Amino acid sequence: MNFPHKRLAILGSTGSIGTQALDVIAANPDKFLVEVLTARHNADLLIAQSRRFRPRQVVVTNPENFDRVKSALQDLDIQVFGSEAALAEVVQSDAIDLVLTAVVGYCGLLPTIKAIEAGKDIALANKETLVVAGELIMNLAQKHQVKIIPVDSEHSAIFQCLVGEEKNPIEKIILTASGGPFRGKQLADLQQVSKEQALKHPNWSMGAKITIDSASLMNKGLEVIEAKWLFGLRAEQVEVIVHPQSIIHSLVQFEDGSMKAQMGLPDMKLPIQYAIAYPQRIHSDFPRFDFMKYPNLTFEKPDLQTFRNLGLAFEALARGGNMPCVLNAANEIAVDYFLHDKVKFLQMSDIIANCLAKMPYIANPNYEDYVQTDEETRVLAKSMVYQ
Ligand code: NDP
Ligand code: MG
Repeated sequence: MNFPHKRLAILGSTGSIGTQALDVIAANPDKFLVEVLTARHNADLLIAQSRRFRPRQVVVTNPENFDRVKSALQDLDIQVFGSEAALAEVVQSDAIDLVLTAVVGYCGLLPTIKAIEAGKDIALANKETLVVAGELIMNLAQKHQVKIIPVDSEHSAIFQCLVGEEKNPIEKIILTASGGPFRGKQLADLQQVSKEQALKHPNWSMGAKITIDSASLMNKGLEVIEAKWLFGLRAEQVEVIVHPQSIIHSLVQFEDGSMKAQMGLPDMKLPIQYAIAYPQRIHSDFPRFDFMKYPNLTFEKPDLQTFRNLGLAFEALARGGNMPCVLNAANEIAVDYFLHDKVKFLQMSDIIANCLAKMPYIANPNYEDYVQTDEETRVLAKSMVYQ
């Protein structure tokens, strides 16, 4: 079958998702072309990736790394930029069909908006964008007729289950959660857990921020909000169930009571490949799932008393408006402080709960409101740590 090259911008190419996306692309050189690569600090890897994949444009958002990247690539026909603002520019190039948003955190919002406005389809890994401004993003995508194809494994599972079901209403969806490294622990057990313990995820190898989010179950909370917007659901239609083996990646229940699930080994390359190749399914050599190696697939209720962040995410979603943006900003500061030994594991939930209680509510925020809410929440969250 004739499959012309799809031309990609990869925002965050040096990260966990970005490097795995490049592995998928390297295995399929007849299908994909890399037009844009971006990183923040990791100049060495960005240079190596650029020499290998020969993008037209490269961004290193930390200006201190600009000279190094620029001079290392000067013999090649590659434009190099050295600012975060450049992310929002390069995604608009005519030479791009699809933007993979694999940066972590709030910084993904503006480039995603600009890419959608330029008519680019989005392969969305950067869930924070939908948490902060889901309504704005989905409305914009509809207006510009672009597709938002999820990379997150749970959302990819649901997206795959919905192919061919476009006119059939969803009764509910069930997001599966591994439970993270602290599954089964009580609050008292979590008082003194270290970042090294929190960074040891049982099933997935991911960037530091999402790994901490997985340990606190905030990741599942962010995913509930992400799912609401992606699939146009009411908050009550999104459930979470703990499934420690991470084989069933999520489920959809339709109005007739029938459930569809998508399954496979926990390997992000599969949802990444599905998102960038969509609507095709292309061959892969990824290891296959074997039922005999997993005779027991098990399920548990999430423990909202111990893992308060999941409850806080449900609260932010129920309140709506700018509250998910507050949740996200407070969480980004809390995780950063935890990773730098400035707060303990359980204090992260206190910071987020306090920010949700204290930040002014905006019912129908626009882009400027989100920017302001994000900034103010960060200041508030930081001030709580030094009180
Ligand atoms: P990583 O931390 O591994 O990578 C993040 C990437 O973004 C790196 O290329 C990093 O550059 C770049 N980056 C970080 N901060 C900024 C910034 N302020 N401005 C511009 N670029 C920046 O993250 P992951 O790959 O784990 O996650 C990426 C996104 O995908 C997150 O939103 C996460 O929630 C989501 N996701 C990840 C999954 C996974 O398996 N990893 C699974 C599902 C979703 P550098 O390293 O050069 O500093
Ligand atoms: Mg996920």
